[in-house]
Amino acid sequence: MRGESLKPQLIAIDGPVAAGKSSVGSLLASKLNFVFFDTGMMYRAFTWKAISLSISLEDESTLSQLASETTFDFSPSQGGNFSFLVNGEDISSRLLSPEVEGKVSLISRFAGIRQAMVSKQRMLAQRGRVVMAGRDIGTVVLPWAELKIFLVASVEERANRRYSELVARRETADFAAVLAELKKRDGIDSHRAISPLRPAEDALTIDTEKLTLQQVVDKIYALAIDR
Ligand code: C5P
Repeated sequence: MRGESLKPQLIAIDGPVAAGKSSVGSLLASKLNFVFFDTGMMYRAFTWKAISLSISLEDESTLSQLASETTFDFSPSQGGNFSFLVNGEDISSRLLSPEVEGKVSLISRFAGIRQAMVSKQRMLAQRGRVVMAGRDIGTVVLPWAELKIFLVASVEERANRRYSELVARRETADFAAVLAELKKRDGIDSHRAISPLRPAEDALTIDTEKLTLQQVVDKIYALAIDR
């Protein structure tokens, strides 16, 4: 099979909120017969865990300890989706909740939490043939990835996409609130002291503003098989 001879074993996809990392990453991974892993789900899962245990979001040492003790796993479920397990409990339905969404960037700032996440993410990548998406995959988690992509689009376009996703899931959505939340998260993710969102020096930036999802996937696929 052609996929077996592909050179890259690891493909990093980074970018801001709603730049298309998960949609592109999962389609690309299935086209390449790779595994897709969305590290944002790990930070979200951990945020939900912290909220459910009523731990203060400022209590860095308790949060860091909890992060190192927490196990994360995922298993394929219906429709090509994944069930996300935290300490064996399926919490997939909670990951996109507004409560988690509003707090995840605050929790993701802490060094101890990031260290625990990065080591778990590297373990997942050890098997190879992985597409991993996040904010710091090309810069920190897998700087040795053979192909690094940084997806961008204007903040308005990204808010539109997020708004449409919410409407499609029949959730109440207000465009202005979605835009404000997205700008807030982008701001925290880009300006934090540890592993801020930025492209790796050797990343290829793709502006997805005027491209369809399939065009973006095809572009990265062509890069992958060309290596
Ligand atoms: O990608 P997603 O929007 O699901 O990520 C949720 C949040 O998790 C991000 O806004 C960011 O604060 C954090 N995150 C991170 N590093 C990653 C992935 C996500 O800090 N590699």
